[in-house]
Amino acid sequence: MIQEQLNALFQRANHEEPEVIRSALFTLLSRPEFDQEYEYTGPLGPQYTAEATTFYLWAPTAMQVDLLLFEEWYQGEYDRVRLARGERGVYQTRVGGDLDGKAYVFDLVFPDGIRHYGTDPYARASTLDSERSVVVNPRETDVPGWQADQRPSLSDMTQTVIYEANVRDLTSSDASGVTHKGTFIGLTELGTVTAAGQPTGLDYLAHLGVTHIQLMPIFDYFTVKENLKDHNNYNWGYDPQNYNVPEGSLATDPMNPYSRIRELKRMIHAFHQAGLRVVMDVVYNHVYDTELHPLNLTVPGYYFRYTEQGAFTNGSGVGNDTASERAMMRRYIIDSLTLWANHYHIDGFRVDLMGIHDIETMNQARQALDRIDPTLLLYGEGWNLNTALPDSRKAAFYNANALPRIGFFNDNLRDAVRGSDWGDGRDVGFITGKWLMEQSVIHNFLGGEQLPSNVTTATSPWQLIQYVEAHDNWTLWDKIARSNGEEAPEKRERRQLLANAIIALTQGIPFFHQGQEFFDTKFGVRDSYRSGDTVNQVDWHRRDEHQQATTYFRDLLDFRRRTPLFHLPTYAAIRSAFHIHKADYQIIALEGQWASERYFVVFNGQDNAIDIPLPKGRWRVIAKDNRFLTEEEADWRTGEGNLHVEWLATMILKAE
Ligand code: CA
Repeated sequence: MIQEQLNALFQRANHEEPEVIRSALFTLLSRPEFDQEYEYTGPLGPQYTAEATTFYLWAPTAMQVDLLLFEEWYQGEYDRVRLARGERGVYQTRVGGDLDGKAYVFDLVFPDGIRHYGTDPYARASTLDSERSVVVNPRETDVPGWQADQRPSLSDMTQTVIYEANVRDLTSSDASGVTHKGTFIGLTELGTVTAAGQPTGLDYLAHLGVTHIQLMPIFDYFTVKENLKDHNNYNWGYDPQNYNVPEGSLATDPMNPYSRIRELKRMIHAFHQAGLRVVMDVVYNHVYDTELHPLNLTVPGYYFRYTEQGAFTNGSGVGNDTASERAMMRRYIIDSLTLWANHYHIDGFRVDLMGIHDIETMNQARQALDRIDPTLLLYGEGWNLNTALPDSRKAAFYNANALPRIGFFNDNLRDAVRGSDWGDGRDVGFITGKWLMEQSVIHNFLGGEQLPSNVTTATSPWQLIQYVEAHDNWTLWDKIARSNGEEAPEKRERRQLLANAIIALTQGIPFFHQGQEFFDTKFGVRDSYRSGDTVNQVDWHRRDEHQQATTYFRDLLDFRRRTPLFHLPTYAAIRSAFHIHKADYQIIALEGQWASERYFVVFNGQDNAIDIPLPKGRWRVIAKDNRFLTEEEADWRTGEGNLHVEWLATMILKAE
């Protein structure tokens, strides 16, 4: 029995060398029987009522836990309350009175003599810079209209189009026209415009025609000083601290624990009213610093993976990997996801480095979200990472058939279209002059059924998140400059418009990054996670300078939405609908028919115009030379002649 051995260790405390006890504790924690005896399914975190609050903390290896309940958010005086040890290693205490807004931390003592002051991993509110947890009355966090807030309808999952954005970047520049720059409520402002009178901020997002906005981290992260307004006090936020608390630097008053909660809800409500669903980027695979994180302060050595020598594994590349296969880490991830879905009405989750997590955890997460609303999205980065988990258990792209209804970023389409990012990033792809990429582009464009099983075992095109640009690495504009060197601006623009069209018309879920539609740049910075506002902010001047490119983007998404052929539900449908006419010499020509509608699409990757045979029939040109034709420009072609396609361009024709 683990329990007897743990009690024996508690007895040995203060009688033996701390290192000996620490080593014995670590051994006990790592045994599978530990979860059998200590997995706890009851309540965790502060359970608030107006009459009393009961605190629950799971800390089986602690010998003693005290609650320090502070008089004020930012003062030192506190009351100390001893918690009682209950079943399965949970400590609890009930404190009478209305504790709404009370700040607290736990003081834990372990048998190896270690003493930790830790915040509550289940806290839903925090003081400035994650220093203390705060009890909140859930009712007091509601904002006007919240009770009636509804997820925008999504008639059909195949209509999903994702746009990745960063709350701060969208409004941090002066050109955004937004008053509360770089904050949650900056994205509730309506009627904001550029110098040329074009919409910015929320209005801009709402007019694009995307269905989901994927927000880079909005949970509490560590390295941005929350009360310091400085363009260089910047970080993307992949440095998690309080997983269940919103980030304070995005609030107007981070000193007040309610500000960030209410303002995030206001923003989500505004998005929903604008018809946009909200996807949250979640980063459960690692924490910023294990020595500062509440998970490791409350149960040291439990929530992470270790090498046989006892060091943290580092598949995440940032110093530690959480252990989702452990019962209470798995529960933590699922509890956190459902908290955001239930209490913040989040509509989907993008799971950072999902390949660190195990298949069982992700499937249980999917089931938990299904119980809330089966239309909630769940997808992530299914890379195969070097962590202490067998390859067969990793939630990786090659295991997609074991993770139905969970999506994966498809870097194969990205690399085929514009080249990989490996090494110096000068690799090119279909849009940038590489030969023999046509088959690879087509296999991915048609949803990935033909991809080899060591790449993916997806059973549906809806498991593929199709993209050429995301927050990581260069923007597409910068990547093209890097791989192709000095080129005339028009040529670079045409390359990018060709890539945008491929993503807009692909099977699976199209994914775009903020500003990709108007050639946004990060000035060649590859990994701008802490490069400051000047590099990262969305440059709304460029949106004015490239009006036609944004119009083309909107027209592409509008066309996709109205045309079922370009968002088919199954591999069988795709197989029966598409016929490949040409896939060589940097030219891809496809014919597709669904119901009574027949289309011919050409992607010309050559940097000169081409002539190719047009199939039989009478065709109307829908788009050519990287723009859609207006009604007045009606342009008809008859089949069996040659079709002229402009250089680096997409052409779309519809059969009469
Ligand atoms: Ca923070």
